[in-house]
Amino acid sequence: MPVVSPKIEASSPHVMNTYGRLPIALSHGQGCRVWDVNGNCYLDALGGIAVNTLGHNHAKLVPALQDQISKIIHSCNYYHIPNQEALAKKLVELSGMTNVFFCSTGLEANEAALKLARKFGHDKGIERPEIVVYEKAFHGRSIATLSATGNPKIQAGFGPLVEGFVRVPINNIEALKVATANNPNVVAVFFEAIQGEGGVNPMHLDYLRELRALCDQRDWLMMIDEVQCGMGRTGKWFAHQWAGIVPDVMPLAKGLGSGVPVGAVVAGLKAADIFQPGSHGTTFGGNPLAMRAGVETIRIMEEDGLLENAARVGAHLNQGLARALAAELASGAVREIRGQGLMIGVELAKPCGTLVQQCADNGLLISVTADTVIRLVPPLIMSEAEADEVIQILCPLIRQLLQTP
Ligand SMILES: *Cc1c(COP(=O)(O)O)cnc(C)c1O
Repeated sequence: MPVVSPKIEASSPHVMNTYGRLPIALSHGQGCRVWDVNGNCYLDALGGIAVNTLGHNHAKLVPALQDQISKIIHSCNYYHIPNQEALAKKLVELSGMTNVFFCSTGLEANEAALKLARKFGHDKGIERPEIVVYEKAFHGRSIATLSATGNPKIQAGFGPLVEGFVRVPINNIEALKVATANNPNVVAVFFEAIQGEGGVNPMHLDYLRELRALCDQRDWLMMIDEVQCGMGRTGKWFAHQWAGIVPDVMPLAKGLGSGVPVGAVVAGLKAADIFQPGSHGTTFGGNPLAMRAGVETIRIMEEDGLLENAARVGAHLNQGLARALAAELASGAVREIRGQGLMIGVELAKPCGTLVQQCADNGLLISVTADTVIRLVPPLIMSEAEADEVIQILCPLIRQLLQTP
């Protein structure tokens, strides 16, 4: 049943106009469903952009956060925060790495990673360290992270960009070798295991293994931005684990706090001691509410088997989409369905931004990235029945779009 678009002002007079927003204001949610202020219900296949790991109003998360809020929300890093150690210990166990720095967002985690790489270089006498980054990458909107980002639209108007980046195409080890040949200033490679904003582009597992070997050989830090693809979304804790490798530096955020802003940089032995007192810091990073959200999110994911669920429901969704769009895949109108677990991209042969509103009008929340790629990153609690519903709403709208000239 199509829902009627609610009347919400197209723009807010006092909020900076940084997003092309839909005329929808969400009021509350339950599981994978959300309701807007006018009472329309939506199936949530976006999860606040891969953030709402546990969906909405989770029966185990909400009381834990309420308990935390009533005790202490923020203290600051002048004191010990016991749940920092608890969450760090957990992340270290899950990743096979050794130490964690906490912050609040993805770009902050990536800034910390970039600083780690530069200091790693300086500590070994490289005065102008350079970092390998990738075409179509997205790492955030600060000056340094937008410089590392491989999207000219995001960079336009904000120059001069931060220097010290070497850009290469994904999944091409020869191109990387050529771009870094005779360059003793390279200290790190920095990339998403599956590019999110760039259109759900996975790094091939072979490429990841070759890259790991090259980083070891040349003493580079392997820094994997798992802000979007990490925290169980692909069916393993971290997407690079499908390749059986361990990075040296791994920024996290988005799904880590299931909606509470939490960021982290996890470091292995090679990077664990680069920062010393005074090297880096942030006021909100690792605060008691954020840490409780991280600890409880992981605990609940383990208790409820959400990695297994993400893998199973993700495969079901992927295969269901492929079946429903078989003719369009055969004709090339749908170029590819790709991704892993509950991080799925459906690439069309034409721009499809208009689908976002059409899906919402039909009770489904999705996003479109890189103009032509429908991105599905739902909560990891999604059921197969809900995945079927995504297919039932989405595929007819895709077909309709493909048929309009
Ligand atoms: C979203 C995202 C970021 C930026 O995170 P913010 O919390 O918006 O700063 C960085 N890297 C990747 C891969 C992302 O998907």
